[in-house]
Amino acid sequence: MPYQPELIGGHVALDLLNTISWRLEPSRTVDRIATPEALATWCAAVGLDADGELEQIAAVRATVYDVVLPIARGDDPVDLRNLQILLADAIRRATPAGPRPLDWTGADLADELVLAAGRLLEREDLSKLRECQDDGCGWLFLDRSKNGSRRWCSSGDCGNRARAKRHYERVRAGRQA
Ligand SMILES: [Zn+2]
Repeated sequence: MPYQPELIGGHVALDLLNTISWRLEPSRTVDRIATPEALATWCAAVGLDADGELEQIAAVRATVYDVVLPIARGDDPVDLRNLQILLADAIRRATPAGPRPLDWTGADLADELVLAAGRLLEREDLSKLRECQDDGCGWLFLDRSKNGSRRWCSSGDCGNRARAKRHYERVRAGRQA
């Protein structure tokens, strides 16, 4: 089946991180943008040009993940140095976009993604950053629900699985009682 990106992060920098599925369950982990075709499909879905090397994009993704995951888990302080270095280089190569807000167009896909990560950290309310509560999923998103109650990347996937599991446990507990 062709790759159909699920853009559930609420921000392109998070959707980039979510191109790895089942990140926390190594036997199932899949990199969804491991081929140029898949990368092109993802780029089309998020509205970016696919002019980038796979390894370079994967390296950006890993650097952004190292920053975003501890923030989502509330593990402070977060080491920003590697991302700051990438961001400084990306801005140096960028074209000014504008006039407002102050912004940049990246020189290539890797730089665009680094700049997107910078925007995530600068402009978004990071207290809304969440990690899907499924044990294996590992997807990240901004919880824009009114009461801040979103627990799953997608209630149709991880949310359904959790409901099925709770139901099964209730039935089993009922039988034992
Ligand atoms: Zn999930």
